[in-house]
This record gives sequence, structure tokens and C-alpha cells, in this order.
Amino acid sequence: MFVLLRHLARVRREAALPSRRGSRSVAIRHVDAGSCNACEHELTATAAPQYDLQRFGLDLVASPRHADLLLVTGAVTTRMETALLRAYEAMPEPRRVAALGDCAMGCGVLATASELARPLDELLPVDIRIPGCPPTPEQIAEAILAETPPR
Ligand code: SF4
Repeated sequence: MFVLLRHLARVRREAALPSRRGSRSVAIRHVDAGSCNACEHELTATAAPQYDLQRFGLDLVASPRHADLLLVTGAVTTRMETALLRAYEAMPEPRRVAALGDCAMGCGVLATASELARPLDELLPVDIRIPGCPPTPEQIAEAILAETPPR
């Protein structure tokens, strides 16, 4: 057990995530607006023990009513547009929006134009952009931590 904990501490050091600048925690509501699921796999890895976003006060939550940050993956499809806007409307102020991956940033590599709603930044005010196809857990964690204002 001790060996396992020591190994885990070394892995975390090697991940070299930036240190937390403040004590404010951030509740993140993730919405898949039409992705291929690879962005979700990387997001899941970000919350796993190797990167462990929770130690920085970042937590994925199940309800937008508890969220500070709406984290969107995928190009916004017509089927997901209403659900995405409802999730945003349910969030308390102040609320922020992050686009995770090239699709959420409007590259349109998935689906055809007839299946897509407007680009995310025409639907919602995007505060954080995380490029990549998909971005790595390090890129996701660094972008959220860098753009999350300390209390
Ligand atoms: S950015 Fe790449 S990995 Fe993410 S949903 Fe789009 S195609 Fe998939």
C-alpha cells in the first residue's frame, strides 16, 4: 500500500500541473453537445487519480444548478441545442462557459451542416477555449486552472 501511495505521488509530480492560485472551488457541469466521445475520455482521465482535478477544488457535478462552469464538448447538434441552452439558463450567476476540443470551438469535423446548430460561441458567451482533437488531460486541467479566477 505504501509503495502504491509513493508511486501515485510520483505520478502526480510528473503530471506537473500548475499550483492552485486561490482557494475558490469550481463546480463544473459537462454537456456533450455532439462529440465523438474522445474528448470525454480525456476529461474522464483528468478527474482520475493521476491528475485528480479535485485536489485543486475542481469538481464535476450532475446538475447545472450547482455549477459555476459549463464545459461543452462536441459541435452543437440541432438535437442538443435546446438542452445546452437550458443547462446554461439553469446555472446561477456568475456563470462561465468553456469550449473543450476543436469541435466545440467550431471546427465542424463531425456531422454535416444540416445536423449542426450554430457554433457554440454564437449560442453562449465562451470564456475558456481548450483546443485539441482531443486535448490532453494536462491541457484541459491547465486551461481551466489558468482561467479560474482566485477568490
Ligand atoms: S475535438 Fe476531436 S476528439 Fe473532440 S469531439 Fe471533436 S473530433 Fe472528437
